[in-house]
Amino acid sequence: MNVPSVNSFNKTIACPSSNVLLSFHLQTLSPEIRTLVKHHLAGCDFCCAEMPLLAHYQRPLKGECKPPEIPINLRILAESLLGKCRTGRKVSAQEKSLKLSFSITGG
Ligand SMILES: [Zn+2]
Repeated sequence: MNVPSVNSFNKTIACPSSNVLLSFHLQTLSPEIRTLVKHHLAGCDFCCAEMPLLAHYQRPLKGECKPPEIPINLRILAESLLGKCRTGRKVSAQEKSLKLSFSITGG
């Protein structure tokens, strides 16, 4: 099975980031960059398809970013699971080193 058109529908190294595309949409880019992005959009199906999506993006208003409330039954379940983990067993040395490597690579 060979479906070449699917493979080409991808973001490439030459593609501007979603942030740049969004800035392009909001017209906050410098004229030079705008021209570059415009040229890119003319030749890139993927970014062309991304533009209408970004048109729906709205910057979140202040205070809109707080997470929604957890339904009470889910909250009870989560707390019971987390409580079990905390009290049920000790952290082994292996887990400690795992955590350490996480903080090295993650930070
Ligand atoms: Zn592109």
